[in-house]
Amino acid sequence: MLNSKPRKILIVGGGTAGWMAANLLAAKWQDVDICLVESKDIGIIGVGEGSTPHLKLFFDAINVSDQQWMPQCNATYKNGITFDKWSSIAGFESYFHPFAAQIDDVFTLPLFFKHIQARMQGYAVDAHPDKYFLETYLTRQHLGPLPAESFPFGMAYGYHFDSALLGQFLADQAQRSGVTRIEGHVTDVELNQQGHISAVKLSDGMSLAADFFIDCSGFNALLLQQGLGVNFTSYKQNLFNDAAVVMPSAIAERLPVETRSTALTNGWAWKIPLSNRFGNGYVYSRDYIDADQAETELRQHLGLLDADVEARHLRMKVGRVEKHWHKNCLAVGLSQGFIEPLEATAIALSFNTIAQFMQYFQQGHFSNQFEDEFNKDINARFDGIRDYIVCHYKANQRQDSDYWRDNASNTHLSDNLNNILHLWQHSHDFVGDMYKHNLMGSYQPKSWACMLAGYGVFPPLRPDKSVDKAIIRREMDALNDFIRRCGLNFQDHHALLAKLAD
Ligand SMILES: Cc1cc2nc3c(=O)[nH]c(=O)nc-3n(C[C@H](O)[C@H](O)[C@H](O)COP(=O)(O)OP(=O)(O)OC[C@H]3O[C@@H](n4cnc5c(N)ncnc54)[C@H](O)[C@@H]3O)c2cc1C
Repeated sequence: MLNSKPRKILIVGGGTAGWMAANLLAAKWQDVDICLVESKDIGIIGVGEGSTPHLKLFFDAINVSDQQWMPQCNATYKNGITFDKWSSIAGFESYFHPFAAQIDDVFTLPLFFKHIQARMQGYAVDAHPDKYFLETYLTRQHLGPLPAESFPFGMAYGYHFDSALLGQFLADQAQRSGVTRIEGHVTDVELNQQGHISAVKLSDGMSLAADFFIDCSGFNALLLQQGLGVNFTSYKQNLFNDAAVVMPSAIAERLPVETRSTALTNGWAWKIPLSNRFGNGYVYSRDYIDADQAETELRQHLGLLDADVEARHLRMKVGRVEKHWHKNCLAVGLSQGFIEPLEATAIALSFNTIAQFMQYFQQGHFSNQFEDEFNKDINARFDGIRDYIVCHYKANQRQDSDYWRDNASNTHLSDNLNNILHLWQHSHDFVGDMYKHNLMGSYQPKSWACMLAGYGVFPPLRPDKSVDKAIIRREMDALNDFIRRCGLNFQDHHALLAKLAD
């Protein structure tokens, strides 16, 4: 067991996870020798083109501005995600899931929650989330998330990017910060007498020793799972999807500021705007549809049935390891687990894992003192995101395939998710009770409420509960006017990106 800062850290794998880890380590622990080994024969997964606001936190941590990286990665801004056709309730065929914004807490959220509570009691109040948020307004107007300097509220935003270009950018940045890149194919993991990793062996016979190892070897999970035998917990019972087919399409004239997620017959399709193309993918379950059928359905959905566009097929392993940090090894990225890309959370999880590990490791004077606490935290993050994503499937009311019917009747729900759904149906103070019972997990009440209200999960209207329509109209008019005036502080997405590239 180490009790002093490692002299040498070896990262195995040069995908997004590996180079993110390399950059963060190099930025914070300049006195440590950091090496990364990657196999050109295997390559990277090369998908994953959407992020949450955590990517901004990562770039802030390594001191890289939007201007430095976005133009090089064909990146665009993201205000959130529109979910199309997940609900079949009239008036709820589509809703927008915004990121957080400071303005919400003060002005928009209180009215949204008040109207939800009224609607849950049967009052005829329009509680569709699209009516309540500045981020939704900006997205519908194709406005980017960066306000004028005089605007007093901060906005959280994510990005869309070309994952291969992002990988290259991060690799160059890390090597400029002193990280050594080695090309090699790892064939073996060598353990010492205490069962710690002492070295990895390459196919050319070379051995790479280090004090600490970071497993970023993707779904292969060479070090933590294969080398140290840490168990993997599958989410397959909760989340059915295990494959994807991806292909590009031509970008629209007006550049969207959102990801679109459209429910198809046996899964869902993403549409992600980059500055030069859309990235598209159909995430589906092989238990319900095969790869050829999925490709045909995606082509139909995109209007590319006869087009000469190449499709890529991928498998996904959904779940997480039981321990992300074990002995002298930390797993980051697909090697530690994957949920599914519905909320584009994988990069966020990688960032959280590395940042939190560095904090705990340092706080424990580079011993394993906080290993259990760390693993508990990261497991809770994974399970919290899983629950939020499972709820998208559980709450659907589509009847057009066994896939959707089986998802709606799936009883493999965590206690947390069952409790949240119970509160939604029965609590008179959904938000207060979420906090009281510590149920947020990885998502705030705003996100849960946007999803459930966006699907139209409400009881029938009650004729005995009457509302003063004039008051509601006045409240909504004031809110809409406020949002519209706030919108004057934001610029067209295209113009914003053009400025970055100047
Ligand atoms: C369909 C799909 C859609 C996704 N969409 C999103 C999204 O929108 N947003 C998001 O945040 N994430 C998304 N992800 C996840 C995202 O792609 C990954 O989390 C991210 O790319 C990090 O991958 P990685 O670095 O862990 O693995 P990889 O990219 O697979 O990299 C693995 C690395 O390990 C190396 N390696 C493997 N074996 C060996 C060996 N024996 N010797 C040496 N080197 C080896 C490889 O050479 C490679 O460099 C998506 C994933 C899938 C499958």
